[in-house]
Amino acid sequence: METIPNCPKCESTYTYDDGLAFVCPECGHEWTAFEQKEAEEAALIRDSVGNVLNEGDSVTIIKDLKVKGATSDLKAGTKVKSIRFCGDVDGHDLEAKVESFGTLYIKSKFVKKIVLTKKLRSDSFRSFLFL
Ligand SMILES: [Zn+2]
Repeated sequence: METIPNCPKCESTYTYDDGLAFVCPECGHEWTAFEQKEAEEAALIRDSVGNVLNEGDSVTIIKDLKVKGATSDLKAGTKVKSIRFCGDVDGHDLEAKVESFGTLYIKSKFVKKIVLTKKLRSDSFRSFLFL
């Protein structure tokens, strides 16, 4: 059975699905599955090109970033492993440990997700098959 989301207005967990919409008996708020989906989409954290980021992802920095209190910039192209969501720290939504800097707060719009693709392997497999 599908789980009914908590009320987006009052966080109540006593929500139910009346067939047309989700209903919150505590504050009377009603919202549709479409609105729920939109809200969930809006809450997703995306990188500079729109990839959805997940905690634990690896990303690359896409531009040189000044680091408060550090003598050098975080250079474009730096790989950052195991990002975590930190909520909103002064406009920064990601945090990660970066070699020679320690834990840094980073804005998602300045990173690009490293997407591991198996395409190369399957391509070479395919060309092997047709040799
Ligand atoms: Zn409510």
